[in-house]
Amino acid sequence: MTLDEIVRAVQTVLGVQVDGKAGPETWAAIYEAIVDPTKTLTPSVTEMTAVDPRSEKNILTLLPEVRPLARALVHKADLAGIRIKIISGFRSYEEQDALYAQGRTAPGPIITNATAGYSNHNLGIAFDIGVFEGNRYFGDSPKYKAVGVIGMDLGLEWGGSWKTIIDQPHFQLRPSWAQDMNERQMLAALRNRIAAGQPVYA
Ligand SMILES: [Zn+2]
Repeated sequence: MTLDEIVRAVQTVLGVQVDGKAGPETWAAIYEAIVDPTKTLTPSVTEMTAVDPRSEKNILTLLPEVRPLARALVHKADLAGIRIKIISGFRSYEEQDALYAQGRTAPGPIITNATAGYSNHNLGIAFDIGVFEGNRYFGDSPKYKAVGVIGMDLGLEWGGSWKTIIDQPHFQLRPSWAQDMNERQMLAALRNRIAAGQPVYA
């Protein structure tokens, strides 16, 4: 099934306009249909093998539970003919504050509304991808949506399916205890766990 066929099939089931262009409602339905929350997130051995050096450098900054899924995403996108790299992973609180200052008290455009501890990137559960053709990076490409579907199939949460701030390069692994929490509640619980030295995914 191509991505377009999947989107049209879901729209038919939802009874919304069938145009192959997925809005938040369609993406949410795709997520529900594809991701079985009870399934174990265990990618195959080949899917867990190391990827390119730039991606690996960023993957190693993530929590150990997230790493195999980030690698699996790179491998599965590759099988679909899409070249991606993991271009961002964990950011320390200091790095987040420096990013937040940009466009406010430091030069450059505003690129985030999250202060330290308020981005999933500060907690080791999130990463961003870049789409490449050859060595050329594309910040905007329809391929991000195709990779989004692959990621959701792996059990990752995809920023492109969010209803408020749509963030197509962004993926994160939501802990099972946070399934019914909103983003703000999950971040607060994650900060508490990390501050208390408790495991994030247990
Ligand atoms: Zn991100």
